[in-house]
Amino acid sequence: MKLFATALFCLCALPAAAQGLWPNTTYDPGIPTLESVIGHRPGDAITTPDEVGRYLDALATAAPDRTRLVKYATSWEGRPLHYLIVGSKERLARLEDVKRGMQVLASGAPEADRLIAELPVVVWLIHGVHGNEISSSDAALAEAYHLLAARGHADADLTLREALVIIDPMQNPDGRQRFVTQNLLGRSLDADPNPQSAEHDEPWPGGRVNHYLFDMNRDYFALSQRETQGRARTMLEWYPQVVVDLHEMGGNSSYYFAPPADPINPLMTESQRKSLELFGRANATEFDKRGFAYFVREVYDAFYPGYGDSWPAFHGAIAMTYEQASARGLAFAREDGGTLTYKQGVTHHFTAAITTAVTAARNREQLLREYLEFRRGATALGQKGTREYLVAPGKDPSRAARLARLLAAQGIQVKRAEEAFQAGSQQLPAGTFIIPLAQPAGRLARNLLDPDIKMDDAFLKEQDRRRKARLPDQIYDVTAWSLPLMFDVDVVASDRVSSVRAREVRADEESATTVTPPPAGTIGFLMPWGSGAASTVAAALRQGIKIQTADDVFTHAGRKYAIGTAFVRLAENPEGTAATVQQLAQRHGAELVPIAQTWTDEGISLGSGRTARLRAPRVLLAWDAPVSTLSAGFARYILEQRFGQRVTAMRVSTLQNYDMKDYDVLVLPSGNYNFSDDALRRLKDWIRNGGTLITIAEASRWAARDRVGLLSTDTLLRDGSPERDAPEGGAAGAAGGGEKPDLTKPFDFEKAIQPERERPENLAGAMLRVTLYPYHWLTAGLDGDIQAVYEGARVFAPLKLDAGVNVGSYAPADRLVAAGLVWQEAQPLLAGRAFLMHQPLGRGHVIAFAEEPNYRAYAEATQLLFINAVLLSVAH
Ligand SMILES: [Zn+2]
Repeated sequence: MKLFATALFCLCALPAAAQGLWPNTTYDPGIPTLESVIGHRPGDAITTPDEVGRYLDALATAAPDRTRLVKYATSWEGRPLHYLIVGSKERLARLEDVKRGMQVLASGAPEADRLIAELPVVVWLIHGVHGNEISSSDAALAEAYHLLAARGHADADLTLREALVIIDPMQNPDGRQRFVTQNLLGRSLDADPNPQSAEHDEPWPGGRVNHYLFDMNRDYFALSQRETQGRARTMLEWYPQVVVDLHEMGGNSSYYFAPPADPINPLMTESQRKSLELFGRANATEFDKRGFAYFVREVYDAFYPGYGDSWPAFHGAIAMTYEQASARGLAFAREDGGTLTYKQGVTHHFTAAITTAVTAARNREQLLREYLEFRRGATALGQKGTREYLVAPGKDPSRAARLARLLAAQGIQVKRAEEAFQAGSQQLPAGTFIIPLAQPAGRLARNLLDPDIKMDDAFLKEQDRRRKARLPDQIYDVTAWSLPLMFDVDVVASDRVSSVRAREVRADEESATTVTPPPAGTIGFLMPWGSGAASTVAAALRQGIKIQTADDVFTHAGRKYAIGTAFVRLAENPEGTAATVQQLAQRHGAELVPIAQTWTDEGISLGSGRTARLRAPRVLLAWDAPVSTLSAGFARYILEQRFGQRVTAMRVSTLQNYDMKDYDVLVLPSGNYNFSDDALRRLKDWIRNGGTLITIAEASRWAARDRVGLLSTDTLLRDGSPERDAPEGGAAGAAGGGEKPDLTKPFDFEKAIQPERERPENLAGAMLRVTLYPYHWLTAGLDGDIQAVYEGARVFAPLKLDAGVNVGSYAPADRLVAAGLVWQEAQPLLAGRAFLMHQPLGRGHVIAFAEEPNYRAYAEATQLLFINAVLLSVAH
């Protein structure tokens, strides 16, 4: 930013020494400063994404023999993502050998021991995954400058010699650009420290998230975003021993570094914990020298495996999150009366990052040795107890295949059986995926495939105490994420190693692109419903192909077909349709069964009234405040990227006055809506005329009877009574209110302090079992039970029979909890309550999800329910 030209003028004359952030360091004038390239000194302005790229280029050009600039991804909005490798001249000359060496080390192969003497310790410093956490990107540029320009500085020399430092200055350029733009737009004459001023107060959706409004610090094992995919590939190329993900937190805080808070994921090793302390103490020493405040062991835990720090940890890295209090601009008025400046934030991050790199360099051999032991230890661990997880292709082979590719994409070895085989008493078909746990990435595999990862007992006890006292819990993220449960695939945990002909599964595996023509006499195709079929149908409908959907079961040529099976009749489609449909099905992994006649042996006929014609749905998505950014982003991503369904995102303010007649489906992501009476009346008319309203989570609460009454359900209080029945001030209970206490009995203190009108128990995020009503088209492609993510405190009474269908209900208490932490007392209220409701209104539908079906784009089973609601409602 070049707003402050006067400042520029007086700074130019300063010597290079003053331009670095490490005290008493002389810098090589041959390495360009940020000021000489961009026009400001570190921390004096918020460097824009474009400027970050320009400065990286300048550094790489100035020190070609000690750097390598690598573009590793492109953001959704088209911005490049880079990392800069910094090391000694000798190391950089043999960079490909180093990379191969790191891969051998990670494999745990016998020759790895010999490599420890010569390999550098790889330090991966990643910055700014949340685009409004701005200081770390400027710190990153200062880190690179310092390492290249610090002349005769013993620690910098040591770092270049012993380590290979990989600096990723900006993990989320789209979010940072959004922040920088709004900050500049709101900028006062001087930087305004008022936290409520426009320059600090970000409009929806804020800069934290990327283009699809994802929190990319939760995306590591889901790998749904291009940016994360690029980082996972980077990690699996270099296998770093030390990883730091640099963030920002609230401006009234100080600085956080390792060791982390409890709970710690039980699959982390004792040696990792020790090294976390090693780095923490090193940072503490430097912070004390400079008088910087910090805290450790609080707030930031190490339990969920999808963070930028935890995911590499299960590959063996010492991986850490650092958090700097955010100025969220150039200056921030703290509650303690002080002013936090952007420059301070940059300096703190720079200090911690450089200290970490130096500490890694000092402990090079030990860190490499421990890394190798971690990888070998994981293999050894997988030779006890469960030896393999086996995933059969099942009813929806596209889903199992997707899971296999997702695991392979994160460096987990997966094989596919080429023939049928026996595992214990289980007979498994050809095509079954085999995930051996005796592998260097075994701890990550376990984390993602085990049904449940347990929290430490003492931690749980403390959380129980806190919730009983109505204090907020200290659980930082969800407590369950098991991918087989999310994908609803059947998994066999086998305690032996299968001996079956199998081949390695690759992440980038493309299905064959050539299709063989269907047999002569083919008059159409049947396509059993599932995730792959939904993608195929969305694409086919867009091309104008006519497709029917079966609303009931039938048997054709001896094979049973479930509800939702799609049927393409070639006679009603133009020539070439067979090849088009075949190509689409192959691309999306859908099964396509060519048929020579339409006679069905049992159940409905293919010309029955109980089939329906599908149409390409025209979809509107509510956007902007008061919509939840994450929920809106999930829905948009799932529609556009996961299923190829076009969607119009429209701001709620516009939507309220918009005539929706040209649209079939309106998706209201979670949010606290406030439609005017007039807008609500038009919405109801639109539904009556055939529109489909899909509400998610808080939007379903808004639609319920006690709010706008689009849905005949009640939201429930903790005691199971409807929210709308409870009097506002709370009923006069036995022990409180106006009733006279009976002083002849001992006073029941516990009872007396219980609140009277309380929302259900808040859950940090668990997986609940949902029982589906299998006769409804919304359940197409799924059967019986699935698992859904539950997060928060929403409970809905089921619909009455005359109002609609409870398509999905939480399972009875004894089977309710699939994984994660659900307090015993919270279970009876959830059991049997509504998860997915369908209420017809006139010729249209209201379809309500109690929870987020598109959660982080890894909830495959509930995502299928969501796309069913979009694709199939239009036909009904
Ligand atoms: Zn962050």
